[in-house]
Formats: sequence, C-alpha cells, structure tokens
Amino acid sequence: MSEFMPCFHIDLPDKAQQHHAAALDFLERHGISPNPICYAIAYEYDAGRKPELNLEIESHLDRGRELDAHYLREFFDTHFMGQSDEKVGEHIADLHNLLYKVLEGVSGACSGAADFGKVLEAQTEELKGDVDMAGLKEIAGNLLTATNKAMTSNQAMRDQLESVEKDASELKSQVKQLQDQASRDSLTGLYNRNALSQQLDSMIERGASEDAPLSLLMVDIDHFKRFNDNFGHLIGDEVIRRVSMALQQGVRDMDVAARFGGEEFTVVLPGTDLDKAMEVAQKLHEAISKLVLVRRSTKEKLPGITVSMGASCLHPGDSRESLIERSDQALYHAKESGRNCIVSEAETLVH
Ligand code: GH3
Ligand code: MG
Ligand code: MG
Repeated sequence: MSEFMPCFHIDLPDKAQQHHAAALDFLERHGISPNPICYAIAYEYDAGRKPELNLEIESHLDRGRELDAHYLREFFDTHFMGQSDEKVGEHIADLHNLLYKVLEGVSGACSGAADFGKVLEAQTEELKGDVDMAGLKEIAGNLLTATNKAMTSNQAMRDQLESVEKDASELKSQVKQLQDQASRDSLTGLYNRNALSQQLDSMIERGASEDAPLSLLMVDIDHFKRFNDNFGHLIGDEVIRRVSMALQQGVRDMDVAARFGGEEFTVVLPGTDLDKAMEVAQKLHEAISKLVLVRRSTKEKLPGITVSMGASCLHPGDSRESLIERSDQALYHAKESGRNCIVSEAETLVH
C-alpha cells in the first residue's frame, strides 16, 4: 500500500500551530469554510512543501480569479492524490482534519490556562495590598471560580482528546482496511501480483538469511478459454474463484496464495523444500480436480477443472524473477506434457 499513499507530512507542534493559524486566516480571507480538504490545501500552501501547488494557487490568484472550495478540491486531487484512489485521498483529508481538531483543542485549553494564570496573578497582587476579611473572602471566591473554570476547560480538553483519539484509531483501522483491499485481487480475494511481489521479496530475503528452504508453485488452469467460450465469462469468473478458494484452503496461514494474472496463480511455501512442495502441489491438484460446478439455470454439470503446475525452490543468489522463471519453465513443461500434471524444476533440468 505504501506506494499508493500520498506523502503526508506531520509537523512539530510549533510549526503546526503556525501553519494552522495561517491556514485558517487564508481560508477566512478567501471566504472559504474550513472543511478538511480546503483546510489541507491551505495548510500545505502555508507550509510551502509543494512548490507546484503554491505556484498553481498563486498564478490562479494573479489571473485575478477567485478561490473557492471547488478549486481547492481540484488542487487537492492534483497535488495530494497522485496515483492513489479516492478513498485514500479522503483519509488524508481526515488526517488533516484530525490535526485541526487537536490543535483547536490544544489552543482552547491553552487559552483557558492563560486565563487562569491571569486571575492568579491579579489575585496575588491583591493579596500584597491591605486586605481585610471581606477582601480575602472575595479573593478566595475569585480563585475558586477561576479554578473551576480551568478544571472545566481541562475536562473539555480531555473529552476532546478522547474523541480525537477515538477518531484516530478508527481512521487507523480504516486505513489498514484500505491497505488490505489494495493488496487483494477483487475477483478472488487472493493477494494480487503487486502484493505477491512484495511478500515474495521479503520471504526470499528471510529464507536466504536464515538458510531456510522456500518453494514456489505456478498454477495455470487447463484450457480455461473453453469455459469462457462455451459457458460465458461469468462462469469463467466462477471457475477462477473456485480454484482460488481451493488453493487458499489447501495451504497454511504462513503460505501465500496469489492471483498472478488471468487464470494463473502463484503459491509461495516458506520453510518448504522441493520434495515437500511437490506433495503440497499434489494435494492442491487433487482438491481442484474434485471441484464440481453446476450451472444454476440449467442444473448442468460443468466439465471438470484441471490445472497444470510448475514447482521451483530457492537457490543461492535467487531473485524473485529467477525463482518464478524456473517455476514458469516447469509449468511450460507440464503443459507440453499434455497438461493436468505437476512438473518440478528438477525434472526440467534433467530433460
Ligand atoms: P492453457 O491450457 O494453455 O493454459 O490454455 P488456456 O485456455 O487456459 O489459456 P489461454 O491463455 O489461451 O486463455 C486464457 C483466457 O483467460 C484468456 C482470457 O480471456 C481469459 N481470462 C483472463 N482473465 C480472466 C478473468 O478474470 N475472467 C474470465 N472469465 N476470463 C479471463
Ligand atoms: Mg490456462
Ligand atoms: Mg495462462
């Protein structure tokens, strides 16, 4: 997900206060109400970290054009979203909003504390003078009121921080959910190719550093095109989904089952040598051959699904590409040998 996330910078409190005040001032000057997106733009404009954004705003203003929420939304899409999807953009805006709320809370509490300080100071001055019993009572009364006020404002701040904390953890879990979504293939729920690459890289690194075995299976549905041609794409999709489920259910939690693309899948098996990987492949192959698909409309039973598989294991100096390439070669041999079978890289080396 990280590559989908636009860069979001969190400033130190002093700087943040400064940009916060300038952002509110900017929005007020242009008569724009501070919704999260407008606020985010105004904040970043003052922070000046995105020179293209500042240039665009300035040239817009130089041309004598007015700024409004609509334009700021456009700037936001251009300068904050990058290649990310819309939801992530909204969450970035939420993060800014959160910052805004915290700062409002903090500045509110600070002004409360400052008021309290002023009362204390004034009352201390009073005490220096000639004070009679009634005067003392009055000072005590004033202090009590000020203390109560400060306590109420502290309580308000605690409440506010509590709700901000709740918002933040909700936001965190939403961002996590988005990250999960971004790493999954939408048809099958398996990891997508991008997530596979990331996970495979780190598994190879771990395997190499711990001198632990690692195997990889490439799985390709045989004559899949016929399902599409004979029964339509929706049935084709269902075949892909059912094979995915069989793969996912047939491996351990620590294994990674991914959709490599189209009707092709990858299974990564950490801590597994080639012999063991061939056993796993056999089990998966069997599970897939037992799948029964029935066409709901006609109750017609679809032809059985078979897959061809290629297996490879980690060699010293392997990269993700070289490991996949050897499985692919083995898969190619499996197809060449008539499909519906499993070939390991060891067999391709012999041939
Ligand atoms: P082989 O046994 O040699 O693998 O033959 P095949 O028919 O399985 O392979 P081929 O590469 O000729 O065809 C794969 C087809 O899969 C082509 C493409 O239109 C289809 N396809 C790819 N992605 C999807 C998808 O998400 N849904 C459906 N229904 N079809 C897809
Ligand atoms: Mg195929
Ligand atoms: Mg294929």
